Amino acid sequence: MTTPLAIVLALALGQATHATAATADDPWIVVLGVAQDGGVPQAGCDRDCCADPGRHRHVACIGIVDPQSGERWIIDATPDFPAQLRMLDEIAPPAHDTPSPGLAGILLTHAHIGHYTGLVYLGHEVMGAQGVAVWAMPRMRAYLSSNGPWSQLVEYDNIRLYELAGDKSVRLNRRITVTPIQVPHRDEYSETVGFRIDGPGRSAFYLPDIDKWDRWDRRIEDVIAAVDVVWLDGTFYADGELGSRSMADIRHPFIVESMQRFATLPASDRDKVHFIHLNHTNPALRADGDARAAVTAGGFHVADEGDRFVLAAGPPRVIPGPVSRPTSRPTTRPATPEDTNPAADGFDLARSDPRAVAIADAVMQRLGGRHAWDQTRYITWKFGGRRRHLWDKHTGRLRLERPGPHSGKHYVMLVDLDTGTGRAWREGVPVTAPEELGSMIRTARNEWINDAYWLLMPYKLKDAGVTLRYVGEGVTEAGGRGDVLELTFRDVGNTPQNKYYVWVGADSGLVEQWAFFGNAADEEPSFVNPWTGWKRFGRIMLSGDRGELYGRPFELVDIAVFDELPESYLDDPAPIDWDELLRGRR
Ligand SMILES: [Zn+2]
Ligand SMILES: [Zn+2]
Ligand SMILES: [Zn+2]
Repeated sequence: MTTPLAIVLALALGQATHATAATADDPWIVVLGVAQDGGVPQAGCDRDCCADPGRHRHVACIGIVDPQSGERWIIDATPDFPAQLRMLDEIAPPAHDTPSPGLAGILLTHAHIGHYTGLVYLGHEVMGAQGVAVWAMPRMRAYLSSNGPWSQLVEYDNIRLYELAGDKSVRLNRRITVTPIQVPHRDEYSETVGFRIDGPGRSAFYLPDIDKWDRWDRRIEDVIAAVDVVWLDGTFYADGELGSRSMADIRHPFIVESMQRFATLPASDRDKVHFIHLNHTNPALRADGDARAAVTAGGFHVADEGDRFVLAAGPPRVIPGPVSRPTSRPTTRPATPEDTNPAADGFDLARSDPRAVAIADAVMQRLGGRHAWDQTRYITWKFGGRRRHLWDKHTGRLRLERPGPHSGKHYVMLVDLDTGTGRAWREGVPVTAPEELGSMIRTARNEWINDAYWLLMPYKLKDAGVTLRYVGEGVTEAGGRGDVLELTFRDVGNTPQNKYYVWVGADSGLVEQWAFFGNAADEEPSFVNPWTGWKRFGRIMLSGDRGELYGRPFELVDIAVFDELPESYLDDPAPIDWDELLRGRR
């Protein structure tokens, strides 16, 4: 078979294509949940509101996506975080070089269970995420830092806390800014904020929890007027909703009260209002009920999962959910014998410079040649000292071993990269919970996509989605002279995304340096690494030394290539004696 790497990279690019096709490359917001903290169905509720399994609703959450940079943020980490991350991955996959969970940040509104407890999934028992940026107000930040289990996430560097201040804008990237706005709410452990989100041409306001409107020192009408779309606290529809329980002490603005208060607003402002954070008892959850009809008749909306709002010029409108699903993966063509180094299907030959393509072919030849590459079966390497991959290139199977951060816990994942299925073990014990297993397998696959590119990029210069340009002659930071190639990743939506510059040494004929640009339009690269320490492994050449990354030495170690290995290595989690296996090979 052809190289699974080509297929999977094509898949990642293909999904990004799909996600961005509808909205070009403008940033957008997507609704990932609409329910109050307890979700729908709510634990212990035996009433009609929770009887219908088809009415399952996730806890209120929104995602912010910049398709140009591949960055994604979410507001609030809910108890439904695993499902919501999956939803986000499906509609806007992370850039292939971002480590799991592929979030540029999480912004927290407050310390009520529906809004932050999903952070646990970043911990070492589940994802073992590293350094995920979490933005919180001062009290919220102190609360997370000083109370378990949250403090452990900080201690293990699963999350990194950044402090927000009321009304102070934070620039998420060059096109998106968020501003927390403090509101009155039951503030036992933290402040409570809503977020204003400003994109290149449009803005939004997200406020899932607040006391009655007149307890706020701001006029909500002014906030609505100042932005293009608002998601507002719609926890309860009206008094009487909780049966015999009195609602006199409930401080949330009822939807009927909000509608009455907003009734005199211009229709264009009412049209901006989307009620969210609905309690399981809220009759407006029913799309065919009287309450929903009254909301619609008033010129307002009820938020739905998958709703999208584009943060750029053009008519402001929410594109209703549910979201469309990614199409099936593109396929690659098997190599034909007469081709010396055929491009993968989807390689943009038409827009690539012939000179750049010729250099790519020469690099492949210098590395051992296409035939040697195709013949190479098993490759193993360790990325960043943590993740040990054993890839069977001919069958598309992967064994990934990694430790939990700062723990002795040992994880083994056996993954079929073509189907995305697999099995996982923690300390030798099989992981059986479907949600957790799915997340681990998905994480393993994403890590492999990233880590394989760091090792094998020179073999992937003519992959699907790649356009190769000849930039000119250049000099590496180490002073080596050579040719500079530009790799961009193109898709049907013609969306500029990542960009690499690759230096090919005039004397060595090998890749000697790369520069990565998070955004093809960026003038300054996000990072530059040397590719040094080239050595022969089996039939091919590989390099593991990448100089420094973010100021720390970075290399791929324990690299080895095999023609034959016991079948059990990719089928059985039993420990492998790596020292013995790698003896004399590294
Ligand atoms: Zn809430
Ligand atoms: Zn219920
Ligand atoms: Zn709350």
